[in-house]
Amino acid sequence: MIAFENVTKKYDNNQIAVNAINFEIQKGEFFVIIGPSGCGKTTLLKMINRLIQLTEGTIRINGKRINGKRISDYNIHELRWNIGYVLQQIALFPHMTIAENIAIVPEMKKWETTKIQQRVHELLEMVGLEPAQYSDRKPNELSGGEQQRVGVVRALAADPEIILMDEPFSALDPISRTKLQNDLLELQRAINKTIVFVSHDMQEALKLGDRICVMKDGEIVQIGTPKEIIQNPVNDFVRKFIGVKEDALNVFTIQQVIEPFVEAKHQSYVIHSVGDQATLQAILQQLAHYECLAVKSEEEIIGVITRQSMLQFLANHSTERGEAND
Ligand code: ADP
Repeated sequence: MIAFENVTKKYDNNQIAVNAINFEIQKGEFFVIIGPSGCGKTTLLKMINRLIQLTEGTIRINGKRINGKRISDYNIHELRWNIGYVLQQIALFPHMTIAENIAIVPEMKKWETTKIQQRVHELLEMVGLEPAQYSDRKPNELSGGEQQRVGVVRALAADPEIILMDEPFSALDPISRTKLQNDLLELQRAINKTIVFVSHDMQEALKLGDRICVMKDGEIVQIGTPKEIIQNPVNDFVRKFIGVKEDALNVFTIQQVIEPFVEAKHQSYVIHSVGDQATLQAILQQLAHYECLAVKSEEEIIGVITRQSMLQFLANHSTERGEAND
């Protein structure tokens, strides 16, 4: 649905920020772009809503080209209104209320007042901000995490097909950050939008992405699901990027080792449980005592981790790391 064909961006100082790249993002996909600072992530993202003009190549959305020196099948307003955008710095208008901030694009699209009010109400509820309490407040009366929540739903307000997010949670404290990541995943499951998300944090990418695109020096090094990237990194750069944390066990998430909960098989010995946000390090400590752990999300068992599956995972992973150190 978003297709990049030989896309290059060269800045005026001759800096090539993005170099002849080709790839496609599917409809409804959560696509994370990751890589070190300066590798071209933001440039790539901003070319999608034409905040940055590409130098060569073509970008198509649903088959229609968005750019071209002379031709574009979209007008710029149509394009921007149909693409939500969330930035790292909370860019709410300080003199407007929360409700007014959320209503900006629906207002521009000339929605009816009652429809806008309903939409604002629904969106605030969606991210756990009680509308009666929050609608009339000004941004400076909200915490950083709450403001960012408003930033996220504002991008959804006019029901865009695509949402671009540029390190939206990186300025937040770790607790708000985890909470917002979880909310976003839930939201994505409910609304099934195409999300293009820039991050420099592998743990965040592994947690959120359906697919991850690893970039280096303006080029794509690897695109794959979290599992593919972990199990088959294409080169040392990707291997090192995955293992960038001092403790690799903290990089992987429960999703990589969880297996389905089959009651008949496991119920006799699942007594202990861990939350779905536990690190592998924490799970390993638990598995030293228990054969099998139930993984719970909001008090519901979503799967199990057995000593055997964990050992298998570690064995596979240690081979990869061993090779990387050769
Ligand atoms: P990232 O988001 O991965 O940190 P960017 O897309 O912001 O990377 O930048 C990619 C490269 O392009 C960097 O080397 C950066 O210095 C350069 N760059 C970004 N914006 C401009 C600009 N407006 N003019 C010149 N060079 C730029």
